[in-house]
Amino acid sequence: MTIRIIEEEGIERPVVSQRIAELADAILHHKKVYESGQSEISDAAYDRLEDELKSIAPDHPVLQVVGAASDSSVGAGAASGVNVRKVEHATPMLSLDKTYSLPDLHRWAADKPLVGTLKVDGNSLSLVYEKGLLNLAKTRGNGRVGEEVTDKAFWIADVPRNLPNGISCEIRGEIYCTESKFLRLADEMVQMGLDRPTSPRNIVSGLLGRKAHFELARYFSFFAFDFIASGAGDARDAAGANDRNPSIPAPRFKSEVEKFKWLGGAGFSLPHPQVLEDAKAVEGYLEYVKKLMAEDEIGLDGAVFSYNDLALHDELGVTAHHPRYKMSFKWQGQTAVSTVTGITWATSRLGAVTPVAVIDPVFLSGASISNISLHNAAHVKAFNLKVGDRIEIVRSGEVIPKFLGVIEAADGSYLWPLACPQCGTTLISDGIRLTCPDATACPAQQLGAILNWIRCAEIDDLSEKRVLPLMEAGLVRTLADLYRLKLEDFLVIPQTREKMAGKLFANIQASRSIPLASFLNGLGIEGAGRTTWESLLEHFSGLAEIQRATPEEIIPIEGFAEKSAKQIVAGLDARRVWIQELLEAGVTPVVQNRSGRGDGQFEGHADGPLAGLQFVITGSLTAPRLDVEKAIKAAGGKLATSVSKNTFAVVTGDLDSGSSKMKKARELGVKIWNEEQLRNALKE
Ligand SMILES: [Zn+2]
Repeated sequence: MTIRIIEEEGIERPVVSQRIAELADAILHHKKVYESGQSEISDAAYDRLEDELKSIAPDHPVLQVVGAASDSSVGAGAASGVNVRKVEHATPMLSLDKTYSLPDLHRWAADKPLVGTLKVDGNSLSLVYEKGLLNLAKTRGNGRVGEEVTDKAFWIADVPRNLPNGISCEIRGEIYCTESKFLRLADEMVQMGLDRPTSPRNIVSGLLGRKAHFELARYFSFFAFDFIASGAGDARDAAGANDRNPSIPAPRFKSEVEKFKWLGGAGFSLPHPQVLEDAKAVEGYLEYVKKLMAEDEIGLDGAVFSYNDLALHDELGVTAHHPRYKMSFKWQGQTAVSTVTGITWATSRLGAVTPVAVIDPVFLSGASISNISLHNAAHVKAFNLKVGDRIEIVRSGEVIPKFLGVIEAADGSYLWPLACPQCGTTLISDGIRLTCPDATACPAQQLGAILNWIRCAEIDDLSEKRVLPLMEAGLVRTLADLYRLKLEDFLVIPQTREKMAGKLFANIQASRSIPLASFLNGLGIEGAGRTTWESLLEHFSGLAEIQRATPEEIIPIEGFAEKSAKQIVAGLDARRVWIQELLEAGVTPVVQNRSGRGDGQFEGHADGPLAGLQFVITGSLTAPRLDVEKAIKAAGGKLATSVSKNTFAVVTGDLDSGSSKMKKARELGVKIWNEEQLRNALKE
């Protein structure tokens, strides 16, 4: 089954948190190098960074940092209390009931609709907002009393400083550190002369308990999962809040879904909530969680389920230990210790050279394990991994076994390879990743690029097993070579006769005419997926225009940060020859009518009342969004996901919304329609 998490289904999310994080990082970096007397950018360029951050996060602590070089004082100046302050939880922060058994989970669910979320292996955090302002952040502690960590929370990009409509409430969630941020954090800590942290989980609690280095909390992320109206369970607070601020009632939710949509709209990141109507959907969600566990970017230890109907929550209540309306599911994990006998390196299709630890085989959860993926080169550095180390590994939920830590270290120091294991080219390192720079001659990357093209161009039957013999025979080296193959060339593939050869040949020919977004996606440019290209095509009319685009033209488009804009421009440039070759080989990218996007069955009418007009829908509507989209398309209109000067009107159920799309529309003077105005236009 496909998982459509609530987050992807039309929550209007401010997409500024990534930009805030980038800016804070850059500003802190430039402050440090400036103090060491080696400015990397002009004062004007630096001021632009500060001005941009001030415009989107005026209270960000990085703007107050002085004396960045003496890093132990960073952030401490702004601290209200350097001593750890104990704070009570008005509503206790309870644990969760848990089960390892799927039948038990189904029995507890009793066919009620559930909402599933990720169970993140981090630390619980409570955020108290007063009149819409973040006033206090505290750890769980023993569940009744926690510790104040407000100065650290200010640094976390996905903890909003303000809530909409100035409401007072408490938000609870999990603070965690992703694998990739952990590696950068570990490097920075070592550079600062601090001990190298041992794991993403340990560093979160470690830094939360520290009295300095608040700025390191910028490597943390936060998932919000609970909303408590101010005063719930604390009459004193409720009375106080109401006296001062009687006019703004907290929102009331009927379901978990409503709650998550509100949290998403308020700017919080969500733990991938998903409505699950039946047992099959629950199992599908667990499969999804397993897949994420295998990727290992977010440390997960299971899933949390709760009844979607909040009336049930009130009815069932809580025990002293846990709420009765929530249940966590974990896989029984088995750990083992083994010895590293080798570390092998392989090049991925994007050129990343990644390590695998070879170990003395051990038996774990019913399988013999002899290889452990180590994700990236920085992992080897972070744990100083080498042959002879005794390491601990874990395997749970039949997912790929994971490296946990070094139990007993052998003598010596870790080694990184100098040359690409596939093509021998000297590797480049950014301190975290090792990459083979030769994208066109490295066989690992050629195969990856060709397989990616085959997938994007939807060429059937041409599997990796069939591509490899073609490459080995020297018939295929680049994407364009596929289109130069003659029918008889396919006979080099083992067990392939004329019938299959004819089929493969025909499938390739059929892909010559290809939607432009698929063509661009097929080039395999890092950081750009199909939706990236689709939104770019709303602003650039064809291949040549996209190839001519500069980062400065892409950055203002909603959803594009400086980094991705630069990656796209550099990626297109590096593939200029490929693009040329594909065009010369007769591949024709087709610019699609945008009204056919998505389901494809609602082709617009060229003579409809909205023919040729582009619309953007934002916020919640009274009619289902899909119906509104259908109606616009049926009337000949087009839909876009971001507001630009090409937008004819923004349609919204909330004319006063301060969402980024509405702001953009007001800035550009784009019409803003309510649903009635849209209905009238449709009737014409
Ligand atoms: Zn290589």
